[in-house]
Amino acid sequence: EYDAGGYMPANIGDILKNQYKVCRKLGWGHFSTVWLCRNLLDDGPTYVALKICKSAHMFAAVAQDEIRLLRETRSIDPNHPGYKYIVQMVDTFRLISVNGIHTAISMEIMGPSLLHLLIQSDFRGYSNRRCQKNNNSGLTYLHDACRIIHTDIKPENILIKVDQNYIRSMIGKTDRFTELGQEMPRSYDRDADIKYTDEDILSKFEELRGQSYPHDKFLIELTTFRERHSEPRLTSPMWVSPNIEIKIADLGNACWEHHHFSSEIQTRQYRALEVILGAGYSFPADIWSTGCMAFELATGEMLFSPKGDRNPTANMDHLCLIWETLGGIPPYITETGTNVRHYFHNGRLKNIPESTLRVWKIEDVLVDKYKWKRVDAIPFAGFLESLIEPDPALRFSASMALQNEWLTSTD
Ligand code: ATP
Ligand code: MG
Ligand code: MG
Repeated sequence: EYDAGGYMPANIGDILKNQYKVCRKLGWGHFSTVWLCRNLLDDGPTYVALKICKSAHMFAAVAQDEIRLLRETRSIDPNHPGYKYIVQMVDTFRLISVNGIHTAISMEIMGPSLLHLLIQSDFRGYSNRRCQKNNNSGLTYLHDACRIIHTDIKPENILIKVDQNYIRSMIGKTDRFTELGQEMPRSYDRDADIKYTDEDILSKFEELRGQSYPHDKFLIELTTFRERHSEPRLTSPMWVSPNIEIKIADLGNACWEHHHFSSEIQTRQYRALEVILGAGYSFPADIWSTGCMAFELATGEMLFSPKGDRNPTANMDHLCLIWETLGGIPPYITETGTNVRHYFHNGRLKNIPESTLRVWKIEDVLVDKYKWKRVDAIPFAGFLESLIEPDPALRFSASMALQNEWLTSTD
């Protein structure tokens, strides 16, 4: 995709806009490549993440929306307590390459994502109270002050804060993921002679994330991989307590409360009930995703991972999973939305015999499957259930979540 209309070719050492020296590649996505750059106008030295978008008109237009949203989050209220939990834009400009004109956005530099941290926990999960606090603070700012809906809250889009020393140490290394934390990559024995390291997994991850629902495929791949090893699960959650601060990144899919860009939003596994039903959405959709993410960070497994990616099968499977987790969906919820007639009849899931559904509430899942102590499971399940409340009007707001007993208590 390094051709006309596509990514901008960039090389380590290039100097862009007479100001930014390219140090290494940080990542890439559907729209862009992202580079660690040193700001030559600053002796610090200081570094930025430079997102260089594909040049085709469609990508340029999306980049303009992202810039508008980022400008707003940068300027609305820097004194808001949630302000510092949103990754901020520094500067924006245009670059010309053989492939066309590229929009470039320089942003404050961040470290790996919470997905990387999950991988590093070997999918056992970790204590995520702190992440939850930061994430919900960030959302109070986006929602209450900026009136912006993120629409893509998930571990991959939450980035860890790192300091300038860490960034300097990253330069020249091939894989920033393995540098986080004390533990060196574990090796995995597969068939005696094939060894997988975290680096292999990360490159697999990089390879898969460019495809549709990369997160999903990637996790399935890894889950199968782990199951094949039948690695014994820990009998209690591994409370790695990462002493980290995070920020919400990737406003590339965000929209305004009163100006949506799409009716289908969010990555499948984190998609809110009202979005699946076509019942309209607003800020509560982000809270639903936050609940799904909190469960995943704590247990290492996704709360809802519907099978198949073709509608209506995936939606039906998703709704069954939600039904089983909530112990049902209130009949009035099944009556509004452009899609409800495909999935519900008289308040029940269409063509799904009740006997095939197995209600399994979060508290019991935590105790039965993840071997949590009930005394730990109760408050956490209570917190999650307020975030995945089926009625968006009754769901916690980000500021209500911040007051929650589980969130405010200590480990
Ligand atoms: P997509 O929409 O497909 O997720 P995108 O082209 O909009 O991708 P981003 O998600 O914004 O691009 O960024 C791609 C990757 O670059 C991120 O997943 C992350 O690994 C890295 N990255 C983005 N912003 C930063 C930052 N500020 N600091 C460090 N790394 C970053
Ligand atoms: Mg992204
Ligand atoms: Mg994006």
